[in-house]
Amino acid sequence: MCGIVGYLGKGYAQAPLIDGLRRLEYRGYDSAGVAFHEGNEFSLARETGRVKNLADSVQKNSSSSSLGIAHTRWATHGAVTVSNTHPHMSQDGKFVMVHNGVIENYGILKKFLVSKGIKFSSETDSEVLCNLIAYHYSELPTGEDRFIDAVRLALPQSRGAYGIVILCVDYSDTMIGARRGSPLVVGLGEEANFIASDASAFVGRAKEAVFLNDGELSIISGKNFRITTMEGEEAKAVAHPVEQISEEVELGDFDSYMEKEIFEQPTALENTLRGRFGDDGTTAKLGGLEGHEDELRNLDRIIFVACGTARHACMVGEYLIERLARVPVEVEHASEFRYRNSPKAGKSLVIAVSQSGETLDTLEAVREAKTKGLLTLGITNVVGSSLARETDGGVYQRVGPEIGVASTKAFSSQACLCAMLGLALGRMRDLSPTDGQAIVQALNDLPDLVTKVLQQGEQIRELAIKYSKAEHLLFLGRQSLYPVALEGALKLKEISYAHAEGYPAAELKHGPIALINPDCPSVFIVEGSSLSSKTIANMQEVKARKGPVLAIAPDNVEIPEEAVDDIFRLPVVHEVIRPILANLPLQLFAYHFARLRGLDVDKPRNLAKSVTVE
Ligand code: GLU
Repeated sequence: MCGIVGYLGKGYAQAPLIDGLRRLEYRGYDSAGVAFHEGNEFSLARETGRVKNLADSVQKNSSSSSLGIAHTRWATHGAVTVSNTHPHMSQDGKFVMVHNGVIENYGILKKFLVSKGIKFSSETDSEVLCNLIAYHYSELPTGEDRFIDAVRLALPQSRGAYGIVILCVDYSDTMIGARRGSPLVVGLGEEANFIASDASAFVGRAKEAVFLNDGELSIISGKNFRITTMEGEEAKAVAHPVEQISEEVELGDFDSYMEKEIFEQPTALENTLRGRFGDDGTTAKLGGLEGHEDELRNLDRIIFVACGTARHACMVGEYLIERLARVPVEVEHASEFRYRNSPKAGKSLVIAVSQSGETLDTLEAVREAKTKGLLTLGITNVVGSSLARETDGGVYQRVGPEIGVASTKAFSSQACLCAMLGLALGRMRDLSPTDGQAIVQALNDLPDLVTKVLQQGEQIRELAIKYSKAEHLLFLGRQSLYPVALEGALKLKEISYAHAEGYPAAELKHGPIALINPDCPSVFIVEGSSLSSKTIANMQEVKARKGPVLAIAPDNVEIPEEAVDDIFRLPVVHEVIRPILANLPLQLFAYHFARLRGLDVDKPRNLAKSVTVE
């Protein structure tokens, strides 16, 4: 969510900062700003709307400073206005700061600062933190460490989450970053060093990336850099090469990241699957679970915690894992789990799933689980993310950066990993080698089958044209296709702003059937099991009330003409990969539906890519 870039180097800061913000645009934001250190004062440019507006405005008033910070804001405290846009300057003009996250006790801190005569020019929590640092600075004696000491005094007084980068006018070659709960990464290059919320901000300009842990500060001073704890002790800096990231974020021939990522799914899934099966070809071998075999064999319960699309992938996992491994599974909204205080029941495993690995609600759920002494595993796409670091073990998705705000390839790989987890747990408990072998075969076939389904994309585009006038749609499915119905509805509303709801098919007559009319299409995702006849009966109930019906169904399920208006056919496959394949036409449907309405699918209104606030 929102973005930070800070630059300190030999050249002018302006171009790398604006370029960095552009690369962070995909995260979702509503205003953007930049500040430069100009010797004995700061210059500031801030605009609501797109980074392009900011770029135009700084172009008119170029800065030749080589130290600056920039930010894309996703408003939490205060409306989307220029005065609330970051960077914020302290009242005395000594500091400028950018902040991602939320300072929960900003009200109390603000009262204190007001009592000291400080006046505020924005409604944000961030300006309060900036002024608190300035206040401590004003109380400290002059000296080399005065800047860092002021930061170290102020941050522990704040509650909530932050990733900040701050400059002090008295230090013309120093930039300080700090994190608690919001990601921050240092980029080390030959010409310049960076501090950003995401390494893609400095791809091509920095060679190595060093990820900060919660509670750490990074101090870049001239050409030097160090990481310390809040108490001032040196902390270990582990450098990762940044090269690889650049190739993966190029758009190529696609018109949006969402489209690119949908069509990348065969390769993405190949990467998710690669080298992850046992030699005997009957089980999955997930490196991140090693060392936990005994705990996994003796589990009494699994609790998945996740948000949004990731939660739907977990729900697919719920059906598959219960079936394959016979372990009771629950799926919780991470935001509910963390406050719910659910009773400890036997040996529970908490699995947290988040593409970015920075979803605050999910991280807090993990922290809560750890407080209760539960074993925690993570499924995430981002190496070195907070989730990867804070769980006891876990599995990387390996699908490359997902830039489109509406998740597509990440869902497929998360559902795939849940199936692999079900297989691994099943084989540790009571799944036969023959069944294991069939599942391994099905998973290995998945990338090719995904290609095959995506090749039918044109048919989905035509269906999207046919239904694109609808303002209300229902998505219905049973068992492991119920979460697919939820995901299909979520995808559509995220990017097209049409109202869509997902339900278990049989739930239709317990309420939603009241919505059925000729303008409200129902999309049924039909399973290939004995239950399909029941789903077809539900379709007939809709048709009887003049509701249009679109079915997504396997080739071998016969659907009477009178039960359906349109059918999109899927290959007949093993149940473990069925949800992933069935979701593909729904991704494409949402994509075309939104494009037909002229909407920007990569930057849907009000949404952010990684949600690092509560
Ligand atoms: N809470 C801050 C604000 O509303 C920061 C939001 C963000 O993370 O962009 O300005």
